[in-house]
Amino acid sequence: MDFDIAYVKGLQVLDSRGNPTVEALVITEGGGYGRAIAPAGASKGAWEAVELRDGGKDYRGKGVRKAVDMLNKVVGPAIAGMDSTRYRDVDRKIMELDGTPNFSRIGGNTAVVTSLAVIKAAADTEGIPLFEFLGGRRATMLPVPLMNIINGGAHAGNDLSIQEFMIVPVGADTFTEALKIAVEIYAELKKILRGEYGKNAVNVGDEGGFAPPLRKTREALEVLMKAVKGAGYSEGEVYIALDAAATQFHDPKTGKYLIDGEELKSEELLELYLSIVDEYPIVSIEDPFTEEGGEWFIQLRKALSGKAFVIGDDITVTNLERTKKSVEEGAIDGAIIKVNQIGLFTLAEEVIEYLLQAGRKAIISHRSGESEDATIAHIAVAYRTGLIKTGAPARGERTAKYNELLRIEDYLSGDAEFPGKNVFLR
Ligand code: PGA
Ligand code: ZN
Repeated sequence: MDFDIAYVKGLQVLDSRGNPTVEALVITEGGGYGRAIAPAGASKGAWEAVELRDGGKDYRGKGVRKAVDMLNKVVGPAIAGMDSTRYRDVDRKIMELDGTPNFSRIGGNTAVVTSLAVIKAAADTEGIPLFEFLGGRRATMLPVPLMNIINGGAHAGNDLSIQEFMIVPVGADTFTEALKIAVEIYAELKKILRGEYGKNAVNVGDEGGFAPPLRKTREALEVLMKAVKGAGYSEGEVYIALDAAATQFHDPKTGKYLIDGEELKSEELLELYLSIVDEYPIVSIEDPFTEEGGEWFIQLRKALSGKAFVIGDDITVTNLERTKKSVEEGAIDGAIIKVNQIGLFTLAEEVIEYLLQAGRKAIISHRSGESEDATIAHIAVAYRTGLIKTGAPARGERTAKYNELLRIEDYLSGDAEFPGKNVFLR
């Protein structure tokens, strides 16, 4: 009874890019609160759940009043009275209400916030943190963060084709220490960029990383390594991860990739990846080819033979079928998990569990458009994924997740584990 959903309310709020987005509030009979805010991508995969937006003149068409209406008038009344701890049933109900394969009726943004607000309200009613509600006593592992500190592609106004250059502070014993390492490198990078490229070079992109006027992939990698070393860390303590988000610099007309001032064929891009993996401590490359280029993911993964992981994002879109296919074909070592790509928490949970059982990586991820909502920090701990990707240690919407992880580590105290390098072992 206490856990039954008593109240559901939608509201239009803003995301970190200043675009409208949907917030859901769920309150249970027992007085538990759950609030969630929908994130939004900029380099979205073609197979993602549909975001319901108003169109028209207000907010340049990006309003979400229709989605909020859908939440208040259709979804809310339908789930009222349901038991919030049986969140899989609630999600199934939302899916039935929509009835389309990609949430084109009620909106993926409407669905995802409702689904997340429900689990948060259930945890709050029980009086325990969300990670514990979902993961129980096993939920003691803090994730290694993949921190995007140089932004390019669709997230920045510079000429870098690769979207994200991330540092991975593995040489730490705790999450708190890993974050400290990242903060020191971020500050060192700022100093170097300002010195070498002038004060405009330290403007930041959507995910809090710097968006310096660099042109070439290697230039970014060089400056990143310089910052790592300048801050007093070694290659063994701090790895690099890349998100190419290659669909964004692929020209569908010619089939070529526009990168580093050149037009590369798929095999040439593959060679570029192999050589930078040899030159730098790169542990993973996400979306190295377009979302249609599964064949090339397979080729790259073979050629890398374990030297770095190939990670899917736009190609897998947190969809169980697509993720299974990619794993079975040998296209990926793991995938990015973004609940809003698939639209419901339960569906994302299935993908996480599948990947971990298959011995692959599940990297819980933010979107480039974010908010103060820190739910993903709890999801990463709940499922012992050991990995999270949530931007630079800067900008409130990014630090909201890191701060939540600091709180979780503090709460777990002696029970907290941090996998460090081990998370990259096969
Ligand atoms: P997005 O990008 O949130 O803009 O889609 C993040 C990513 O590609 O991982
Ligand atoms: Zn990505």
